[in-house]
Amino acid sequence: MSASQSCLFCRIVAGELHAERVYEDDRVVAFRDINPQAPVHLLVIPRKHLVSLGEAEAEDAGLLGHLLLCGRELARQEGILERGYRTVINTNREAGQTVFHLHVHVLGGRFLGWPPG
Ligand code: 5GP
Ligand code: ZN
Repeated sequence: MSASQSCLFCRIVAGELHAERVYEDDRVVAFRDINPQAPVHLLVIPRKHLVSLGEAEAEDAGLLGHLLLCGRELARQEGILERGYRTVINTNREAGQTVFHLHVHVLGGRFLGWPPG
């Protein structure tokens, strides 16, 4: 089975599964997390199937930067840029990655503790 058939987020990119999209362009799609951990909890993902940050290549540098800048613009759009927001990329099992298609969490709208759990 190809990645696009078996991967949850590839299926969201393809429009086969519903998600509440807040932004998209030729390289990325952003949507609300189904199980939000803060008043604002978005996921920004590349259209291209990348398993994790651990498997990104030097040629993906521009795409990785674009994901972060899209997250920043979405934080602005959601009204949390000035208050503060957090971008998180969980990489592999011990860090809590559960969906193996690279995604950037954008969290905010409440005070976020540190260190993370
Ligand atoms: P991870 O744990 O891999 O860093 O993050 C995966 C995130 O994807 C979780 O926050 C989880 O709530 C979210 N998620 C899992 N399945 C779906 C889904 O079908 N739709 C949406 N919108 N979010 C999902
Ligand atoms: Zn995928």
